[in-house]
Amino acid sequence: MKNTFFCTHRIFCDICFLKIKKMSTKAYAAKAATSPLEPWTLERRAPKPHDVQIEILFCGVCHSDLHTARNEWGGTIYPVVPGHEIVGRVTNVGDQVKKYKKGDLAAVGCLVDSCRECNNCKEGLEQYCENGMVGTYNGQERDGSGVTYGGYSKQIVVHEDFVLKISDKLPLEGVAPLLCAGITTYSPLKHWNIKKGDKVGILGLGGLGHMGVKLAVSFGAEVTMISHTPAKEKDAKRLGAHKFLLSSDEEQVKSAANYFDFILDTVSAPHDYNMYLNMLKTNGVMTCVGAPPTPAQIPAFNLIMKRRSLAGSLIGGIPETQEMLDYCAEHNIVSDVEVIDIKDINESYERMLKGDVRYRFVIDMATL
Ligand SMILES: [Zn+2]
Ligand SMILES: [Zn+2]
Repeated sequence: MKNTFFCTHRIFCDICFLKIKKMSTKAYAAKAATSPLEPWTLERRAPKPHDVQIEILFCGVCHSDLHTARNEWGGTIYPVVPGHEIVGRVTNVGDQVKKYKKGDLAAVGCLVDSCRECNNCKEGLEQYCENGMVGTYNGQERDGSGVTYGGYSKQIVVHEDFVLKISDKLPLEGVAPLLCAGITTYSPLKHWNIKKGDKVGILGLGGLGHMGVKLAVSFGAEVTMISHTPAKEKDAKRLGAHKFLLSSDEEQVKSAANYFDFILDTVSAPHDYNMYLNMLKTNGVMTCVGAPPTPAQIPAFNLIMKRRSLAGSLIGGIPETQEMLDYCAEHNIVSDVEVIDIKDINESYERMLKGDVRYRFVIDMATL
């Protein structure tokens, strides 16, 4: 019986799993909050029966990557390998995988697992899993096998239920940011039923804001970019915005009172919510997808007097993320990106902090 060991549990149990070879993959990691990202080799599990192994071709650079690498939100476990805007090609699948085969294009977004049993998971809202979703990086695997490592790496292994299909019609580097920036803006626009003729304001023109403009325009809304930077007007219009509102101009702010049906607030820096709430008409909704570090002061009257709503939204569940990817393929929507070599990641973080990117850095993983 030497050298013949078969798992009798059909799925790999802990004992058997020890006998399954892990595989090394090249990555970039931060080893401390104050150290730059640098080359590192990590161990991935070999595909289990329902796992898909993906060779990562491109990975978008999200602001959350920087926050986590530098432990700005607390709770970072080092070394950390960021990256949750992943596109690539399937190189191997477990023997129970139905939806993917070797050679397929595939994508992974912000989450790689959830409890699958709570009300939210059953509704396909895994991002709101009552038992905590498992983030693509700096998350804890539900089987206790350790920390998750993200897309700044050559390979990733993910359960097929959390892998997404992508079209070969769109440039892959432009698709990568859809996995976070795209779904983060798509989900609230859909939830609040943005449609033809609605007056939509997009607050902030960055990675999220530029996707918000493209998507809201595609839904038929009249879209206004709201920004305090006059230089952004030209780009906002190029992206499809119909109007531009300069929020540092008092007259323009005054004339926008009671104007919008919906405002998507993508700003993460501290800002005065009340100024924008005043721009909502009766029954208007402002949804925050950016998270400023300090709490906002909001007089209830600003909501009461026009039955306004202030809401929040977090990425999207797996079914909606797939819907968004299919929608973007059909309508030819991708992110505006600057493709970088992985060795330039630290410099890209500095440029991202200055807002010097139009509108998303995407790492070409062939450079790793
Ligand atoms: Zn992100
Ligand atoms: Zn759940």
